[in-house]
Amino acid sequence: MPVNGYGDSKPDEVKMTEVLLGLGSNLGNRQETLEQAWKEIGGLPETQTLRLSRFYQTEPVGGPPGQPEFLNAVGVIETRLPAQILLEQLQEIELRLGRVRKEHWGARTLDIDILLYGNQIIATPTLTVPHPEMLLRRFVLEPAQEVAAGSVHPETGLTLREHDRIAKQSGKGTSKNRD
Ligand code: AMP
Repeated sequence: MPVNGYGDSKPDEVKMTEVLLGLGSNLGNRQETLEQAWKEIGGLPETQTLRLSRFYQTEPVGGPPGQPEFLNAVGVIETRLPAQILLEQLQEIELRLGRVRKEHWGARTLDIDILLYGNQIIATPTLTVPHPEMLLRRFVLEPAQEVAAGSVHPETGLTLREHDRIAKQSGKGTSKNRD
Protein backbone atom coordinates (compact mmCIF):
# COMPACT_ATOMS: atom_id res chain seq x y z
CA MET A 1 0.00 0.00 0.00
CA PRO A 2 1.57 3.33 -1.00
CA VAL A 3 2.20 5.58 1.96
CA ASN A 4 3.38 8.73 0.23
CA GLY A 5 -0.10 9.98 -0.51
CA TYR A 6 0.54 10.06 -4.24
CA GLY A 7 -0.63 6.59 -5.09
CA ASP A 8 1.77 4.62 -7.25
CA SER A 9 4.01 7.49 -8.32
CA LYS A 10 4.65 11.10 -7.50
CA PRO A 11 3.05 13.44 -10.04
CA ASP A 12 6.31 15.31 -10.53
CA GLU A 13 8.45 12.21 -10.89
CA VAL A 14 10.75 12.54 -13.88
CA LYS A 15 11.34 9.29 -15.67
CA MET A 16 14.84 8.02 -16.30
CA THR A 17 15.98 8.40 -19.88
CA GLU A 18 18.37 5.93 -21.47
CA VAL A 19 21.33 7.72 -22.98
CA LEU A 20 24.14 6.47 -25.19
CA LEU A 21 27.52 8.10 -24.68
CA GLY A 22 30.64 7.91 -26.82
CA LEU A 23 34.00 8.16 -25.07
CA GLY A 24 37.36 8.62 -26.73
CA SER A 25 40.95 9.33 -25.79
CA ASN A 26 44.22 9.46 -27.72
CA LEU A 27 46.67 10.95 -25.27
CA GLY A 28 48.11 9.94 -21.94
CA ASN A 29 46.93 6.77 -20.21
CA ARG A 30 43.91 6.34 -22.45
CA GLN A 31 42.38 3.32 -20.73
CA GLU A 32 42.72 4.82 -17.28
CA THR A 33 41.16 8.08 -18.50
CA LEU A 34 38.17 6.29 -20.02
CA GLU A 35 37.68 4.13 -16.92
CA GLN A 36 37.86 7.15 -14.62
CA ALA A 37 35.47 9.09 -16.84
CA TRP A 38 32.98 6.22 -16.66
CA LYS A 39 33.29 6.18 -12.89
CA GLU A 40 32.67 9.92 -12.68
CA ILE A 41 29.69 9.66 -15.04
CA GLY A 42 28.25 7.10 -12.63
CA GLY A 43 28.70 9.65 -9.84
CA LEU A 44 26.61 12.34 -11.54
CA PRO A 45 23.36 13.24 -9.80
CA GLU A 46 20.24 11.35 -10.90
CA THR A 47 22.37 9.14 -13.09
CA GLN A 48 23.24 5.48 -13.22
CA THR A 49 25.71 3.70 -15.49
CA LEU A 50 24.33 0.53 -17.03
CA ARG A 51 26.76 -0.95 -19.58
CA LEU A 52 30.16 -0.08 -20.99
CA SER A 53 31.51 -1.62 -24.19
CA ARG A 54 34.98 -3.02 -24.58
CA PHE A 55 37.69 -0.59 -25.59
CA TYR A 56 38.31 -0.29 -29.31
CA GLN A 57 41.58 0.87 -30.72
CA THR A 58 41.30 3.02 -33.82
CA GLU A 59 43.98 4.33 -36.10
CA PRO A 60 43.71 8.10 -36.46
CA VAL A 61 42.59 9.19 -39.90
CA GLY A 62 44.50 12.17 -41.27
CA GLY A 63 46.36 14.47 -38.92
CA PRO A 64 50.13 14.53 -38.42
CA PRO A 65 52.05 11.24 -38.69
CA GLY A 66 52.86 9.39 -35.50
CA GLN A 67 49.67 10.42 -33.75
CA PRO A 68 48.74 7.85 -31.11
CA GLU A 69 45.81 5.55 -31.77
CA PHE A 70 42.47 6.41 -30.29
CA LEU A 71 40.83 4.29 -27.67
CA ASN A 72 37.05 4.43 -27.94
CA ALA A 73 34.14 3.00 -26.01
CA VAL A 74 30.39 3.47 -25.84
CA GLY A 75 28.37 3.37 -22.65
CA VAL A 76 24.71 3.26 -21.73
CA ILE A 77 23.45 5.29 -18.80
CA GLU A 78 20.10 6.19 -17.34
CA THR A 79 19.56 9.72 -16.14
CA ARG A 80 16.96 12.22 -15.06
CA LEU A 81 19.21 15.12 -16.05
CA PRO A 82 17.88 17.10 -19.01
CA ALA A 83 20.12 16.76 -22.06
CA GLN A 84 21.66 20.23 -21.80
CA ILE A 85 22.51 19.79 -18.11
CA LEU A 86 23.97 16.37 -18.84
CA LEU A 87 26.14 17.92 -21.57
CA GLU A 88 27.44 20.53 -19.13
CA GLN A 89 28.21 17.87 -16.53
CA LEU A 90 30.05 15.77 -19.10
CA GLN A 91 32.05 18.80 -20.21
CA GLU A 92 33.14 19.32 -16.61
CA ILE A 93 34.39 15.74 -16.52
CA GLU A 94 36.20 16.33 -19.83
CA LEU A 95 37.89 19.36 -18.36
CA ARG A 96 38.82 17.59 -15.13
CA LEU A 97 40.28 14.49 -16.76
CA GLY A 98 40.95 15.51 -20.29
CA ARG A 99 44.09 17.49 -19.87
CA VAL A 100 47.65 16.34 -19.45
CA ARG A 101 49.56 18.22 -16.81
CA LYS A 102 52.77 19.47 -18.38
CA GLU A 103 54.17 22.94 -17.92
CA HIS A 104 50.84 24.36 -18.87
CA TRP A 105 47.52 22.72 -19.33
CA GLY A 106 48.12 20.48 -22.28
CA ALA A 107 45.95 19.00 -24.98
CA ARG A 108 42.59 17.49 -24.23
CA THR A 109 42.76 13.76 -23.81
CA LEU A 110 39.11 12.97 -23.36
CA ASP A 111 36.08 13.46 -25.56
CA ILE A 112 32.58 12.54 -24.44
CA ASP A 113 29.69 12.75 -26.91
CA ILE A 114 25.99 12.33 -26.35
CA LEU A 115 25.12 9.91 -29.15
CA LEU A 116 21.46 9.24 -28.32
CA TYR A 117 19.24 10.75 -25.65
CA GLY A 118 16.24 8.45 -25.44
CA ASN A 119 14.46 8.79 -28.75
CA GLN A 120 14.72 12.57 -28.75
CA ILE A 121 15.87 14.71 -31.63
CA ILE A 122 17.59 17.83 -30.31
CA ALA A 123 18.96 20.70 -32.37
CA THR A 124 20.22 23.66 -30.36
CA PRO A 125 23.34 25.79 -30.89
CA THR A 126 25.20 23.69 -28.31
CA LEU A 127 23.68 20.26 -28.73
CA THR A 128 22.80 18.08 -31.70
CA VAL A 129 21.31 14.69 -30.88
CA PRO A 130 21.52 12.10 -32.33
CA HIS A 131 25.19 12.92 -32.74
CA PRO A 132 25.50 13.86 -36.42
CA GLU A 133 28.56 11.72 -37.09
CA MET A 134 27.69 8.60 -35.15
CA LEU A 135 26.49 6.68 -38.19
CA LEU A 136 29.65 7.48 -40.14
CA ARG A 137 32.06 6.24 -37.51
CA ARG A 138 32.80 2.55 -37.23
CA PHE A 139 34.59 3.17 -33.93
CA VAL A 140 31.25 4.39 -32.58
CA LEU A 141 28.91 1.92 -34.27
CA GLU A 142 30.85 -1.20 -33.30
CA PRO A 143 30.92 -0.52 -29.56
CA ALA A 144 27.42 0.98 -29.74
CA GLN A 145 25.95 -2.18 -31.16
CA GLU A 146 27.77 -4.15 -28.46
CA VAL A 147 25.87 -2.39 -25.66
CA ALA A 148 22.72 -1.09 -27.39
CA ALA A 149 22.14 -3.19 -30.51
CA GLY A 150 18.39 -2.85 -30.29
CA SER A 151 18.30 0.92 -29.78
CA VAL A 152 16.61 2.73 -32.61
CA HIS A 153 18.11 5.79 -34.23
CA PRO A 154 15.19 8.21 -34.11
CA GLU A 155 15.99 9.82 -37.47
CA THR A 156 16.46 6.67 -39.54
CA GLY A 157 14.17 4.30 -37.67
CA LEU A 158 16.87 1.62 -37.92
CA THR A 159 18.49 -0.16 -34.99
CA LEU A 160 22.16 0.29 -34.23
CA ARG A 161 22.65 -3.38 -35.14
CA GLU A 162 21.31 -2.60 -38.60
CA HIS A 163 23.48 0.49 -38.90
CA ASP A 164 26.55 -1.46 -37.85
CA ARG A 165 25.81 -4.10 -40.48
CA ILE A 166 25.35 -1.45 -43.17
CA ALA A 167 28.64 0.20 -42.21
CA LYS A 168 30.43 -3.18 -42.29
CA GLN A 169 29.04 -3.91 -45.75
CA SER A 170 30.28 -0.59 -47.05
CA GLY A 171 33.68 -1.52 -45.55
CA LYS A 172 34.49 1.93 -44.30
CA GLY A 173 36.79 2.62 -41.38
CA THR A 174 39.00 0.36 -39.35
CA SER A 175 38.99 -0.54 -35.74
CA LYS A 176 40.25 -3.43 -33.77
CA ASN A 177 39.11 -4.83 -30.54
CA ARG A 178 41.56 -4.43 -27.75
CA ASP A 179 40.29 -6.79 -25.04
P1 AMP B 1 34.27 18.43 -29.60
O1 AMP B 1 35.01 18.57 -28.31
O2 AMP B 1 35.09 18.80 -30.79
O3 AMP B 1 33.62 17.08 -29.73
O4 AMP B 1 33.07 19.49 -29.61
C1 AMP B 1 32.40 19.80 -28.44
C2 AMP B 1 31.26 20.73 -28.75
O5 AMP B 1 30.26 20.08 -29.49
C3 AMP B 1 30.63 21.23 -27.49
O6 AMP B 1 30.85 22.58 -27.36
C4 AMP B 1 29.15 20.91 -27.60
O7 AMP B 1 28.37 22.05 -27.32
C5 AMP B 1 28.99 20.50 -29.06
N1 AMP B 1 28.04 19.39 -29.25
C6 AMP B 1 27.00 19.42 -30.10
N2 AMP B 1 26.33 18.27 -30.08
C7 AMP B 1 26.96 17.47 -29.18
C8 AMP B 1 26.72 16.15 -28.70
N3 AMP B 1 25.71 15.40 -29.17
N4 AMP B 1 27.57 15.64 -27.77
C9 AMP B 1 28.61 16.40 -27.30
N5 AMP B 1 28.89 17.64 -27.71
C10 AMP B 1 28.07 18.19 -28.64
